[in-house]
Amino acid sequence: MSAIRALIAVLLGTLAACSSTEQSRTGATTRPPSFIVIFCDDLGYGDLGAFGHPTIRTPHLDRMATEGQRWTQFYVAASVCTPSRAGLLTGRLPIRSGLCSSRRRVLFPDSAGGIPDEETTLAEVLRDSGYATAAVGKWHLGHRDSFLPTRHGFDQYFGVPYSNDMDRTSESPRGRIGIVEPKSEYFNVPLIRDLTIVERPAQQETLTRRYTDEAIAFIEREADRPFFLYLAHSMPHVPLFRSDEFVGRSARGYYGDVIEEIDANVGRVLESVRRLGLEKDTIVVFTSDNGPWLSYGDHGGSAGLLRQGKGSTWEGGMRVPTVVWGPGRVAPGVVTELGSTLDLLPTFASLSGAALPAETKLDGHDLTPVLRGTGPSPRTGMFFYRGAEIWAVREGPFKAHFKTRSGYGGEKVQEHDPPLLYHLEHDPGESRNVAKDHPDVIARLQQVVEDHRATVEQVPSQLEIR
Ligand code: MG
Repeated sequence: MSAIRALIAVLLGTLAACSSTEQSRTGATTRPPSFIVIFCDDLGYGDLGAFGHPTIRTPHLDRMATEGQRWTQFYVAASVCTPSRAGLLTGRLPIRSGLCSSRRRVLFPDSAGGIPDEETTLAEVLRDSGYATAAVGKWHLGHRDSFLPTRHGFDQYFGVPYSNDMDRTSESPRGRIGIVEPKSEYFNVPLIRDLTIVERPAQQETLTRRYTDEAIAFIEREADRPFFLYLAHSMPHVPLFRSDEFVGRSARGYYGDVIEEIDANVGRVLESVRRLGLEKDTIVVFTSDNGPWLSYGDHGGSAGLLRQGKGSTWEGGMRVPTVVWGPGRVAPGVVTELGSTLDLLPTFASLSGAALPAETKLDGHDLTPVLRGTGPSPRTGMFFYRGAEIWAVREGPFKAHFKTRSGYGGEKVQEHDPPLLYHLEHDPGESRNVAKDHPDVIARLQQVVEDHRATVEQVPSQLEIR
């Protein structure tokens, strides 16, 4: 009897393998790739070994960068959480979906808005093409039921719906002390499975590990078919938390412990991909939602040689450390071409054969030629929105700033006419204004902004609804 059962299991396994994975004559698989996006919160450009940090040890990410691509000019759609995430998941600048505002920069626990049903998410694009989909970790695109991931293309969700510093409890010491000496009990943050709160307050010391456990369980369960996993860590957004195993591990202190725990858990994800034999069928993107939160001193990260951080339209706010890994599908190397999280939706659609959302103005480009090492990036520039306004624009090596302000703190808005102009390839730290030498470039960049504005339709801000 057991022999018959074993035979049936083998036959079923073979059928499943045939339906999901076609083997070419060379033995290379031709099935559409699975995608894993590991998205950190407030990780700075200079916070990884592979991006030059001298004391934070990130061996798994460094190996991933050596085996894959290290992108040095990769941007997010905005310098704070909610609009940045909206940009990644829709392939559209958040001004188009209403997931930005100049009055309230992100969604808060008292917000009643979220991602509109009219938006087509990356998860919907891939699920309609037969992918299994999962969101794990921080969401921040609306915490009411109709906005949660399972209503926007994800088969399953496990995570925290907004930032881990929100909804302070009465036990929390006021001011910074509750943030720099944090306890989970200080933040009434819910942990949600699909649509149900399963823990409150979320035990934050365990989040990096538990998110990864959930991610690995999903990969194991869906190994036989293409999948899309969006793993959005709550860390290293302050208040910082790490598990006991990582306390005191890093020479960089508390913040370094947190990054080293993330790195170890990236290693666990890649190990599971390898163990299941999926490394030739999986593309993993590791990046961050915005720059480091500099106003928290030691508890914030570093933008390395870039200027400023989270919340600002300087490079440190929106250029993020990005690694793309996919042995056999991604040509290894250092990529100095331009890319953006806005590009993931069209790129993944292209690689999977999925249809792009119809009649939708996308701001992303298909980066497939760069991933394969066959051609240049179709992305030649970037818009830098602060809230609902364009404060800066990049085209080629030049970036013009029309307004500037640090991400946080009391600095006043400075308006620039003529705009400040930096040559980012010569001067990535934005320290030498070359506006006087290039009036023609400034005129061209101003025209780029005008042309872009003409494509933007006014929609209500979701961040202002309470
Ligand atoms: Mg963030």
